[in-house]
Amino acid sequence: MAAIEKRSREDWQELDKNHYLHPFTDHKDLHKRRSQIITRADGVYIYDADDKKILDGMSGLWCVNAGYGRQEIIAAAAEQMQELPYYNSFFQCSNPPAIELSAMLQEISQPQFKRIFFAGSGSESNDTIVRMVRTYWDLMGQPERHTIISRNNAYHGSTVAAASLGGMKAMHKQSGLPIPGIVHVEQPYWFGSDRSMSVDEFGLAAARSIEDKIKEIGPDKVAAFIGEPIQGAGGVIVPPDSYWPEVQRICDEYGILLISDEVITGFGRLGEWFGADYFKIRPDFMPFAKGVTSGYLPLGGVFVSDRVADVLIDKGGEFFHGYTYSGHPVACAVAIANLKLIQSENLVARIRDDIGPYLQQKWRALGDHPLVGDTRMVGLMGALEIVENKDTLQRFDEKRGVGTICREKLLVNGVCMRAVGDTVICAPPFVLSHAEADEMIEATWKALDLTQQALSAA
Ligand SMILES: *Cc1c(COP(=O)(O)O)cnc(C)c1O
Repeated sequence: MAAIEKRSREDWQELDKNHYLHPFTDHKDLHKRRSQIITRADGVYIYDADDKKILDGMSGLWCVNAGYGRQEIIAAAAEQMQELPYYNSFFQCSNPPAIELSAMLQEISQPQFKRIFFAGSGSESNDTIVRMVRTYWDLMGQPERHTIISRNNAYHGSTVAAASLGGMKAMHKQSGLPIPGIVHVEQPYWFGSDRSMSVDEFGLAAARSIEDKIKEIGPDKVAAFIGEPIQGAGGVIVPPDSYWPEVQRICDEYGILLISDEVITGFGRLGEWFGADYFKIRPDFMPFAKGVTSGYLPLGGVFVSDRVADVLIDKGGEFFHGYTYSGHPVACAVAIANLKLIQSENLVARIRDDIGPYLQQKWRALGDHPLVGDTRMVGLMGALEIVENKDTLQRFDEKRGVGTICREKLLVNGVCMRAVGDTVICAPPFVLSHAEADEMIEATWKALDLTQQALSAA
């Protein structure tokens, strides 16, 4: 009794064009080419409506970390749906999967975290944080501590508050964002800078742009700083080693709350459970989503440190915030099954000691290609920069859309990655085998060759 009709690719594309408004999409452009319809998936591969097999170098959208077709996760969802498909956590109610998942999450996180707030997505998690941060300072008798500092080109989601926290200029322009009380400073993107400083000097300078902003606003008016340990959607921007220790020093010195957005870096992607562990910072909040369920169902949430949670609980009264699907039992059961699988297969250590170093070394070797000016990869999260001139690192004219050409050539060669301008990024599933890693790298080299041919033909 399948819920979905069997249709031809053309039929799907026609219905899609007529009825489905996609997220982050230029529909006029899409309607000229039609959508790529993905119909099934297994392991690290997705299949389109023509049954073309594609290695998913992005884990869906940074989330299918355990790979596709994992029976343990599927069974957990089916069982929980039989037992209790839904109940809310309002009105002094709770449910076993949400309780068990909270306990499990505190076990794998730093000791300041004992309590978890659940949401349905990363965006909702960051909205929750904006509310909690400001409520915390109100309760602390410092309501003027209102401003949250974020960074240019950050991505924290797409709701009004999350997009305000984000630093994407084009997003802000479309809807009169950011909302008041959110400001942005420099991102730690050395390759994208004028490169006049050494990498470490640049990292310190980027961190100190936070301190400058604090002084400009007034230290008694700043509530929090938010950052992704490694910026994902902005182009896998790995900060210099000097950056995060200095950010931690600044947050400590001015007493402001530190938010580590772990929506991509959480649950093992960097070869540690969290990006905060990898960079050795001690955040007060960690929003999460994506990898917590390996994307099998939507779930987000926030790790809330004792510093904040104790105040909310002791002094707060009712916190007027929550979602119908906060602590959704099926989503939580799926998260538990997913995390158990990551634990039993030692996937975090595998990224740190095995597939991570293996893929990183091969990814670095792509730097020998004439089009590649820089490569970087931490854990299984990587980027390469396409340049016109390898010596000066001069980029191509933006209008030529070279990154997009390369992404299309990759797809022709059976690998899905993403282009952010002329930065090509990847984040494959944690279960990627050595042979699949080789396949991914060979296809990338070939796609770079084809991109170069296309450019010289133009
Ligand atoms: C994807 C993402 C979000 C938003 O998550 P959604 O589930 O799409 O709302 C927030 N922060 C980061 C770092 C992300 O990559």
